[in-house]
Amino acid sequence: MSRRTPIVAANWKMHTTLSTAAELCRALRESIDGVRGVEKVVCPPFVFLALAREGLAGSTIKVGAQNVFWEEKGAFTGEVSPPMLADLCEYVIIGHSERRKYFGETDETVNRRLRAALAQGLRPIFCVGETAEERQGGRTEEVLLRQVREGLGGIEISSGFVVAYEPVWAIGTGVPATGEMANETIVLIRRELASLYGGALAQAARIQYGGSVDGANIAEFMGEPEIDGALVGGASLKADVFTAIVAGAARLKGTA
Ligand code: PEP
Repeated sequence: MSRRTPIVAANWKMHTTLSTAAELCRALRESIDGVRGVEKVVCPPFVFLALAREGLAGSTIKVGAQNVFWEEKGAFTGEVSPPMLADLCEYVIIGHSERRKYFGETDETVNRRLRAALAQGLRPIFCVGETAEERQGGRTEEVLLRQVREGLGGIEISSGFVVAYEPVWAIGTGVPATGEMANETIVLIRRELASLYGGALAQAARIQYGGSVDGANIAEFMGEPEIDGALVGGASLKADVFTAIVAGAARLKGTA
């Protein structure tokens, strides 16, 4: 079996202020910089990217953005382009369900953002996930495969590409999927990656689970063979809880 380096990413969403973001970076630097065998990424709001970059410089903790526009520059008030991000961070979350739900994100716009990010050398965390209604209606597989196929249409991926499987009904609800359910669903996503890119790239792709992950349930997810880390929202705002999640991932899945 291939040894994929797990990746645990913190999505701070629209939380923190200048001072609390700085404090969170300081605390995480102290608590998780030394954790080996798992890639750690912190994704603050755009306005705190520079602060995070500075606060985490020289550490093993990487910085990511929560979104990116596809144009390089121009009259697009309020948008942030790939070249702007390239100087500030390595990763970028693309296609998060909150973007899909509240900001009109579609598979097509996700595809444009993924292309632009990759062309700039950024590393996407490509989010997919079904709603409760879609799962209850037996449409999970169809929805996810469509999101994967259309999101990645015409795009070449490289080894270690990151996908976050985030069932919409589990995000921010305190009701996570079970490890078994997440694992089974990730198998479907990996199978689709194999049909698009071949077995080797699919096996090397890292597929995270996201949705109400916390320090108490991380072990359940990391105990599953197909889950390669976590995308963490609410629980990533508390340094001690995020530290426990990273430590759990390293203990159960770490490659060091
Ligand atoms: C997320 O925002 O990607 C997420 C998974 O949130 P939470 O951990 O709060 O469910």
